[in-house]
Amino acid sequence: MSDILRVLWTVVPRIAPQPRLNCNRCRGIRLFRSSGKIRVNANGKRLDAWLIYKCISCDSTWNRPILERRLVRTIDPLLLMSLRANDPELVRRLAFDAENLRRKVGLVEKFDDVVVRKEVLTESMTPVRWLEILCAVPETTGLRVDRLLATELRLSRSRIRTLQNTGDLAVSPKGSRMLRIAVRDGMRVTIALSEAYDRDRIAMAARSGD
Ligand SMILES: [Zn+2]
Repeated sequence: MSDILRVLWTVVPRIAPQPRLNCNRCRGIRLFRSSGKIRVNANGKRLDAWLIYKCISCDSTWNRPILERRLVRTIDPLLLMSLRANDPELVRRLAFDAENLRRKVGLVEKFDDVVVRKEVLTESMTPVRWLEILCAVPETTGLRVDRLLATELRLSRSRIRTLQNTGDLAVSPKGSRMLRIAVRDGMRVTIALSEAYDRDRIAMAARSGD
């Protein structure tokens, strides 16, 4: 055993990205949320599919194009089946595809409400001298790295900044603003705990959510 505690944090967002669109009924820009419903319309050999969104104020709908005038025989049969069955996994994957959504509408709001699942990859000797956090982020979130660390390690954000300024906290890939950007898949945070008076408490928080 070494003096490094390695943990894997899987960050799962609770709320899918929402487009900002002009709502005709509200007469203004509103956020629209996914209704979880897919609409499929076949017209001869061609097919359209949309994910239905609703204005959060008045429930007016907006149809997000998923397939447009596609030849039915060119569509993967499994995808077609999932679209027709309103498959929840497919709905979630589409709803969280923020890049595709942004290409369709321009303005997309992301949220920082997440659930973090924690696993220990390598247990360390006590006292823990190093903490290494590997972040798995399968879906887009707006959650900043410093907020994630502060919440999950139960530290203040100023403490997180101080750790970075003293060189005790490093984020990889490197960058001066890395603490302020949204957490991404594959990010790795290393924290030196040798000098920290509360290192046992930090190591405990890194291991589990309770
Ligand atoms: Zn509306």
